[in-house]
Amino acid sequence: MFVDRALITVKAGDGGDGCVSFRRAKAEPKGGPNGGDGGRGGDVVFWADTGLNTLYEFRGLRDWKAQNGESGRGKQQFGAGAPDLVVRVPPGTMVFNDETGDLIHDLRPDERVVIARGGRGGYGNEHFKTSVHQTPFEFTPGQPGEFYRLRLELKLIADVGLVGKPNAGKSTLLKALTRADPKIANYPFTTLAPQLGIAELDPERRLVLADLPGLIEGASAGAGLGLDFLRHIERTRVILHVLDAAPEDGLTPAQNYRAIREELAGHSHALAEKTELIVLNKADLLDDDEQRDALKALRRAVPRDTEVLITSGGARVGLRPMLERLWAMLHGEAARPPGWTDAPLPAAGG
Ligand code: GDP
Ligand code: MG
Repeated sequence: MFVDRALITVKAGDGGDGCVSFRRAKAEPKGGPNGGDGGRGGDVVFWADTGLNTLYEFRGLRDWKAQNGESGRGKQQFGAGAPDLVVRVPPGTMVFNDETGDLIHDLRPDERVVIARGGRGGYGNEHFKTSVHQTPFEFTPGQPGEFYRLRLELKLIADVGLVGKPNAGKSTLLKALTRADPKIANYPFTTLAPQLGIAELDPERRLVLADLPGLIEGASAGAGLGLDFLRHIERTRVILHVLDAAPEDGLTPAQNYRAIREELAGHSHALAEKTELIVLNKADLLDDDEQRDALKALRRAVPRDTEVLITSGGARVGLRPMLERLWAMLHGEAARPPGWTDAPLPAAGG
């Protein structure tokens, strides 16, 4: 239901041309042919890297070209073949020929597929030598590598679903987490609501977050976003439960927590079962002592194994530790890179 798209071109390498050349030696004024064959052009290979989950990489990287094979040379030297160009895409990427609309391939995790074939190298003149044809001037040029205009499509699965009462600060949090990179500003999602954001911990680690207001807020109004959305959301792996640290409705964060948990359980069993991280949000509204007390009170009220962190989307507090925690919940503690620091995220603009 969230579809991430990219339009790219791929060009495999051309084969190198065959060479026309003759032996030259003092003792042998009319040497035989010795022109080598050209090398093969590189293939364009797609690799479904399980570390990727978006087509973000392709913003601004439109044209992918493998190297050409080398031409053949004299003295029977064959031109070197060019290496393949490996393009990393997320698993589940569907590759379409943009001109015909045909589906070329749907990549499974870790799969490698040749999408555009490199051209064969041409024959050098030595290839054309026969007993009755001792001085061939023939050679063949390298074959061109394949070229395609492709459309890549990926159904995005949110890693993390945000839930919480209206006004808990979900949208603000999502906005603060989503890098305000111009590349992301025109990120082409086909749907506007619910909102989706891509948080980048570093270039190798991205989390897809979905704000799920419709699930809770719409559900009580009898609206909701429908079964499709629910099915999609049920594939998210972690729930981020956002609680207002100083709720205006006069309830405590713990009471709000229970209310949302009940709605969640009533709405989707699958969703209610997910691993959950709780954030006590809008922490900027409390001083240090109040924060400590609120955190203590909330921790007493939630299941023992559920973690609670302090954040403020508005003041950009605690965002990096929260993302690291989410990442670890999704990918294991080992996924934390060496040299990890608690540095703040780069400022979001916009
Ligand atoms: P949502 O309904 O959960 O999406 O909540 P919003 O993100 O729309 O925020 C609701 C209100 O709370 C808005 O008026 C925000 O300006 C305010 N708000 C959101 N995050 C913070 C925060 O971290 N600190 C403070 N002080 N206010 C916040
Ligand atoms: Mg909102």
